[in-house]
Amino acid sequence: MSHDLIGPHDRSEPDKISVEMLSGWILEFGRLVTAQKEQLNALDAAIGDADHGTNLARGFHAVTAELELTPQADPGALLDHVGRTVVSKVGGAAGPLFGTFFLYLGEAVGNDPGLDSRRFARGLRAGLAGVVARGSAEAGDKTMYDALAPAIDAIEAAALAHHELPDVLRAGLRAAESGRDATIGMLARKGRASYLGERSVGHQDPGATSATLLFTALTLI
Ligand code: ADP
Ligand code: MG
Repeated sequence: MSHDLIGPHDRSEPDKISVEMLSGWILEFGRLVTAQKEQLNALDAAIGDADHGTNLARGFHAVTAELELTPQADPGALLDHVGRTVVSKVGGAAGPLFGTFFLYLGEAVGNDPGLDSRRFARGLRAGLAGVVARGSAEAGDKTMYDALAPAIDAIEAAALAHHELPDVLRAGLRAAESGRDATIGMLARKGRASYLGERSVGHQDPGATSATLLFTALTLI
């Protein structure tokens, strides 16, 4: 049997995340935010200004076009490129926050072509630190943080327990969904929704909803 057919990302390294997988993650997220643009706008209409889906869909359309034109060679370069485009093309509060997430993630994962899940988890943790550096959200403020933080905790715990990659990523999605759902009962303390005070309670946060789509997309790579 020829070994020529065995590439670097085959079953011999089942727990590695390749640059192609990361690129697939971003493209899948772009498809999801585009497909759910109206739902995200509707959530934002209730406690914001109804543009969250439009902001993300427009920005990730640009990201997708650039990625298709200029494929990136390694994880760090890819995520840095994505982060820069998101910061410049996605409007609203969420643009700089999502963009910073990808910039810090890219910086943390570096140019190693095959990431293991522990290194990826450390990268996600750095991405979350970027979101906090930019927007100072804390747990319970009813923001994207409330989906991102539990998802990253779950991914980190599953990676450290040496679970297989698909299980690690599924654990992240489950935790993101619970975190997203918990924002319904929260009172917004950051961003536009915070202007509503008590009236923000009872509505699901749009940014926590789109952040959850990041983890949906991860389970599809
Ligand atoms: P804008 O509020 O400027 O219209 P978007 O509608 O695109 O921006 O995004 C709103 C989302 O951004 C919120 O649902 C919330 O999750 C997130 N967000 C707002 N401010 C912050 C912050 N300081 N930290 C983290 N996330 C935030
Ligand atoms: Mg908005």
